[in-house]
Amino acid sequence: MRILLVEDETPIANFIRDGLREEGFAVDVADNGRTGLEMALGYLDEYDLFLLDWMLPGVSGIEICRQIRKENALVPIIFLTAKDTADDAVFGLEAGANDYIRKPFAFEELLARIRVLLRSREGEQHTFFCGDIEMDTEAYRVTKRGKPVELTQKEFALLEYLLRNKGKVCRRTRIIEKVWDINFGYDTSVIDVYINFLRKKLDRPGEPSFIETIRGVGYRVNEEA
Ligand code: CA
Repeated sequence: MRILLVEDETPIANFIRDGLREEGFAVDVADNGRTGLEMALGYLDEYDLFLLDWMLPGVSGIEICRQIRKENALVPIIFLTAKDTADDAVFGLEAGANDYIRKPFAFEELLARIRVLLRSREGEQHTFFCGDIEMDTEAYRVTKRGKPVELTQKEFALLEYLLRNKGKVCRRTRIIEKVWDINFGYDTSVIDVYINFLRKKLDRPGEPSFIETIRGVGYRVNEEA
């Protein structure tokens, strides 16, 4: 899951970015409204959720929100705001935001709201199966033959992406866009490393991997696996 955070106050931006990365999200940060708007519209399909500060240099969060909504009616948008009158909140929601959170806030509260919006958008599906592997993204749990398997945040995010797209070829550039973030550029070799980690932890010994390599393109988890 990839999030764009537009926030001009560096300490707040770092706090949110680091916290979300620890939870396994890919996070890009824009520190002004103009860059935020460019990234939002330029990579609209890559983002699963937008976190927009209200008061930004260049272009306001409200304006970014309106522009995103013109192009995409559904992608979740949350406002971060220091404004605290009811009118302001209504104004933000009228601009198309799904939710808002007032600064200062506890990270856990922000995380909970993000999870609610992503869940409702995903049509409630949070359990995935593949052979003897079972994944529950809400409980943050992966089991193999009923036994828990410890995965790192990135391994978990990569597995989730592959299972959500079971039966389809997951292109390497797409995986990087969805699971890592913009700072990785397009060096996709990191994917191979993490695919190997997943295979070591989840494959059945002596049998073909549950993750098929599509040479020169990417990876696929097969329906019948
Ligand atoms: Ca601000």
